[in-house]
Amino acid sequence: MSKRKKYVPKLAKGEWIGCMGLTEPSAGSDVAALKTRAIKKGDEYVLNGSKAFITNAPIADVAVAYARTSTDGERHDGISAFIIEKGTKGFSAGKKLHKFGMRTSYTSDLIFEDCVIPAENLLGKEGDGFSMAMQTVEWDRSTIIAPIVGGCIFALKRSCEYSKQREQFGRAVSEFQAVKHKIADIKIFLEAARPLVYRIAWCKDQGQPINHLEAAITKLFLGDWSLVPIDNAFVIHGSYGYCHEYDIEKLYRDSRLLPVAGGTSEIQKLIISKLM
Ligand SMILES: Cc1cc2nc3c(=O)[nH]c(=O)nc-3n(C[C@H](O)[C@H](O)[C@H](O)COP(=O)(O)OP(=O)(O)OC[C@H]3O[C@@H](n4cnc5c(N)ncnc54)[C@H](O)[C@@H]3O)c2cc1C
Repeated sequence: MSKRKKYVPKLAKGEWIGCMGLTEPSAGSDVAALKTRAIKKGDEYVLNGSKAFITNAPIADVAVAYARTSTDGERHDGISAFIIEKGTKGFSAGKKLHKFGMRTSYTSDLIFEDCVIPAENLLGKEGDGFSMAMQTVEWDRSTIIAPIVGGCIFALKRSCEYSKQREQFGRAVSEFQAVKHKIADIKIFLEAARPLVYRIAWCKDQGQPINHLEAAITKLFLGDWSLVPIDNAFVIHGSYGYCHEYDIEKLYRDSRLLPVAGGTSEIQKLIISKLM
């Protein structure tokens, strides 16, 4: 069997911005239903299709995109992963999306129109794509959670400061029991969430594989349950919380992504119940 040529990037080392194209307009939670096709023609693949909601797509130098290489109706087994560099003919990014939150990151479609790439840009073997995608998603689930802990530290600090300084009815609002309870709830969530995130980070640090059950539980817990403490901070700030200057509304908007991206909370529950 002849050895495949190794993929050699044309970009200089250390200068890459990458993106991962898995989701499609009609394949979100059910990613195995993706429709982008890669047809082998001699030493090349021809890609046609599109990806949706791809982080970094408008600014990426290189994309790893998943496409169907099999035509015989296979779902998971017919998917392969490809490296596509910016500037490749037939490869483009769509218009930057105007998002509810996470506005500092760029998100758009990826479009493949008779996009021809060398065969060596296939990652691994044909049909390896789905398991590669799941490893990437597991990594994604493990890293997307840390900003929530950071966000809740910020929410706690800001809520303590603001409630001590804001006076109503002749005293600081921090003296009202309803406000104290909201602050206590932020603290309780933070103390419960932090060890979960640290455990995942420790496993990554040690080079240990993350177990999918732990990653799904952690993502679900932080995604769904952080909505209460972050909403508490929002409420403590009254109308100022609703305004841009206090950054609480930004935290509120950004945190809404966690129960959606990298697999929705409903999908995490399916994973948890399947693996139990
Ligand atoms: C800001 C942002 C960045 C993103 N970045 C990337 C990226 O870099 N790369 C990438 O590939 N993707 C990315 N995504 C896509 C994201 O991972 C998907 O949007 C997500 O997996 C959900 O898919 P969907 O939007 O198609 O929802 P759908 O799958 O259409 O789901 C709609 C609703 O139905 C529910 N649902 C679906 N199936 C089931 C089921 N079996 N049981 C119960 N409920 C179900 C869902 O939970 C949801 O509530 C990003 C998305 C956003 C918003």
